[in-house]
Amino acid sequence: MFQKNMELELLIEDMGVDGAGIGKARGVAFFVKDAVIGDKVLIKVMKMKKRYGFGKLLKVLEPSPYRVQPLCEFYRQCGGCQIQALSYAQQLKYKEKKVRDNLQRIGGFSVSDNTECEKQGILFHPIIGMEEPFFYRNKAQFPIGTDKDGKIVTGFYAARSHHIIPNRKCCLGIDINETVLDIVISFMEDYHIAAYDESTGKGLLRHVLVRFGFTTKQIMVCLVVNGRRIPHAEKLVERLAELPGMTSIALSVNEKNTNVIMGEEIIYLWGQGYITDTIGDIKYQISPLSFFQVNPIQTKKLYETALSYAGLTGTETVWDLYCGIGTISLFLAQRAKHVYGVEIVEAAIADARKNARLNAMENVTFFVGKAEEVLPDFYEKHMQENVKEPCPGIFVEAARESVAGETEKYKTNGQSANMLHPDVIVVDPPRKGCDEKCLETILKMQPERVVYVSCDPATLARDLKYLCEGGYELREVQPVDMFPQGVHVETCVLLGRK
Ligand code: SAH
Repeated sequence: MFQKNMELELLIEDMGVDGAGIGKARGVAFFVKDAVIGDKVLIKVMKMKKRYGFGKLLKVLEPSPYRVQPLCEFYRQCGGCQIQALSYAQQLKYKEKKVRDNLQRIGGFSVSDNTECEKQGILFHPIIGMEEPFFYRNKAQFPIGTDKDGKIVTGFYAARSHHIIPNRKCCLGIDINETVLDIVISFMEDYHIAAYDESTGKGLLRHVLVRFGFTTKQIMVCLVVNGRRIPHAEKLVERLAELPGMTSIALSVNEKNTNVIMGEEIIYLWGQGYITDTIGDIKYQISPLSFFQVNPIQTKKLYETALSYAGLTGTETVWDLYCGIGTISLFLAQRAKHVYGVEIVEAAIADARKNARLNAMENVTFFVGKAEEVLPDFYEKHMQENVKEPCPGIFVEAARESVAGETEKYKTNGQSANMLHPDVIVVDPPRKGCDEKCLETILKMQPERVVYVSCDPATLARDLKYLCEGGYELREVQPVDMFPQGVHVETCVLLGRK
């Protein structure tokens, strides 16, 4: 019915998960990149699948009332923002709908509108957006390369490629990025420092990482190099150190031919090895390799929601699974009796322990391991041993390094019973969601409340379905826009035991 290269007129009525516009012709859906809801467009058919097709946007025939002038002139080429041409109010609607659709379609929850939600006793809150949906990122990584005239360039990779679009003014990042890049590039020109070339593996400077503490105004610059030193580095350091707020300058050694940006070894050149930032009342130390949420303004709102859903009064035992550097754990520990964090990356747990000390919090204990192994291991061993003996193996090993007592053995008297039946379990898994073994153990442990923080509504819906079939009910849903101009949406959900 439709052939390649055929031209069609469509009305864009929806947007897909990756932000492409969706319009129908004779019942067949077409995905059209860069078309927004409400546009009337002319497309060329590029590819047909059984039930849908892909089209290339040739012309916007009648622009949508929701279409806006993108702030960034490179918006269509760059892979960073997918929906900058859609008004922010409409972006928020699109994301809220995405959460509702997934919960409905995959989870089987009737949440299509608020009347439906009310009938089910579910509080679905309007998505929390940003007042200023630009310049929000506290971290940026700029690739350095050479253009066809031999000039050093920096900017962003074009979508699905390693071609650098020269742009030092990304409107998601902070102003200082541009100043840092100007300094680095003019230093490279002055001292003939070569940019790294992926195809040959030659050249020195690969990437520039800039991190910024929104509340402290501290700046970190980390230069990723194909080697262990930069000639005349002291000149570069001198120029960078003049910037107000500069706190840390470092090198990251990456001599591998790989897509991974940062190397494992960090060489400190100037200042401290980290910057500090705060979310609410909690301080966090951030080093070049630390994971830290990129939108601190929205992160605060998200964590405050998680904290309020946890309903803590000071007597509760809480597990925080997928805890990263302990960001949520420390937030919860302000109001809980004890928080146990579990995270797979060892370096993140080292940061988590450091952050606990920095905030003088003793009521947190962190374990390295997979949530789907640590939790069931702990549960099964303690059930078998009848909650009397300290549990053996990995658990005691991990516990020995707890913040509460670095060398002291963990005291399980009374505590383990609380840990076995925690009041609240918080999970914040990566996009693929929770492992079934982890969810199964949560059901066995029967906490009063489960707080699910999710960065993917589809896996969220799948996991909520499992938990709700196992004795929980969906009580509150709060979408939060952590990535304005992009397609991703974060959601915080409260489940209660029926
Ligand atoms: N809660 C943290 C981090 C969330 S990101 C924050 O808000 O900052 C998800 C985290 O889960 C990452 O740190 C990742 O390393 C970790 N992770 C991934 N798979 C895991 C698993 N199977 N078990 C435990 N942690 C895991």
